[in-house]
Amino acid sequence: MSKPIHKSSKLANVCYDIRGPVLDKARQMEEDGQKIIKLNIGNLAVFGFDAPDEIVQDMIRNLPSAAGYTDSKGLFAPRRAVVHYTQEKGIAGVTVDDVYLGNGASELIAMSMNALLDAGDEVLVPAPDYPLWTASVSLSGGTPVHYLCDEGADWYPDLDDIRRKITPATRAIVIINPNNPTGALYPEPLLRELVEIARQHKLIVFADEIYDKTLYDGNVHTSIASLADDVFFVTFNGLSKNYRACGYRAGWMVVSGNKRQAKDYIEGLNMLASMRLCANTPGQLAVQTALGGYQSIKDLVAPQGRLTRQRDMAYERMSAIPGVSVVKPKAALYMFPRLDPKVYPIQDDQQFAYELLAEEKVLIVQGTGFNWPQPDHFRLVFLPNTDDLGEALDRIERFLAGYRRR
Ligand code: PLP
Repeated sequence: MSKPIHKSSKLANVCYDIRGPVLDKARQMEEDGQKIIKLNIGNLAVFGFDAPDEIVQDMIRNLPSAAGYTDSKGLFAPRRAVVHYTQEKGIAGVTVDDVYLGNGASELIAMSMNALLDAGDEVLVPAPDYPLWTASVSLSGGTPVHYLCDEGADWYPDLDDIRRKITPATRAIVIINPNNPTGALYPEPLLRELVEIARQHKLIVFADEIYDKTLYDGNVHTSIASLADDVFFVTFNGLSKNYRACGYRAGWMVVSGNKRQAKDYIEGLNMLASMRLCANTPGQLAVQTALGGYQSIKDLVAPQGRLTRQRDMAYERMSAIPGVSVVKPKAALYMFPRLDPKVYPIQDDQQFAYELLAEEKVLIVQGTGFNWPQPDHFRLVFLPNTDDLGEALDRIERFLAGYRRR
């Protein structure tokens, strides 16, 4: 037999369960002709949330002239539009040179970690997190150290836990606000405390704000980078969520605050941006149109908007199930319900997700897939329309009733 080909040891601690083995099983079931209700992924377009027409039309119009490479950081006009956006959000001192366009925020998140980390460097990442962050730290040779977010306090970061976990090797802290998977939105006083911790311990703040316009109940988002100019911030955003255009792979990253201190790191970022030549050009052009146009996300998150109605339905139905508690999301597309271990003694939450899929044909992602330490949560995406969501919730309710009788 020929020698097996092994994956790199760099992947040993890398996991991305949102597209992991449970999804593979769901695909197999679909190939066998079974219909699955998918509450597993924040892909708005496939649930009938169309991208704004002006972005689509612009994409079509620009395509014939968008076949060339651009500057590695991106075209001037969309980067200029991002600068304007940072001004609206109160982030001081950003120039076009501080903006990097990418193939989605994902590429830039990986790049930002790759340019920073050496073996032994630690990065504070929330638990639960959007798992690309943990995976990117690991793949870059660093060590992710998870700080807890407190479900009893609206899923806000536990500041004492953060302080306890800082060591001489800690380089940075990741703040995902609004949060995936919890739907939390952090108030300004809390963000100020996080800035203070970063200031005291000379940490870089990586701020993932990709849901900053997906806000319910009239809530307002504060960019953490708007709160200080003596700390170094890298802020991420893009078109995938607020503009429902994740397939266009258009995102951006902005460096701000104490840029002088980060001169060498910024050179590293520039090097990595150059090595991948540039982000896709049609996606870059869409950034400018999106930021300048009518912000139609407002209609979806209005009191009677489609996203609000679906959030409310999912929240009310899940909260009414015995042994289930949920913090009501203030933002984003997700909730992270807790299954009381006394009522649902789950040992392995991936197995739990498999069983829900096999018995009820509902696909969710288990909480440990978001680096949550206990097998007692799962993430629910409330994107299907109310008919499908209602059906999914009926099935989850039935499955959990069966689980309680075991
Ligand atoms: N950050 C968070 C918190 C996300 O939830 C996602 C996607 O789900 C991303 C980043 C990646 O976004 P993009 O499509 O821009 O790569």
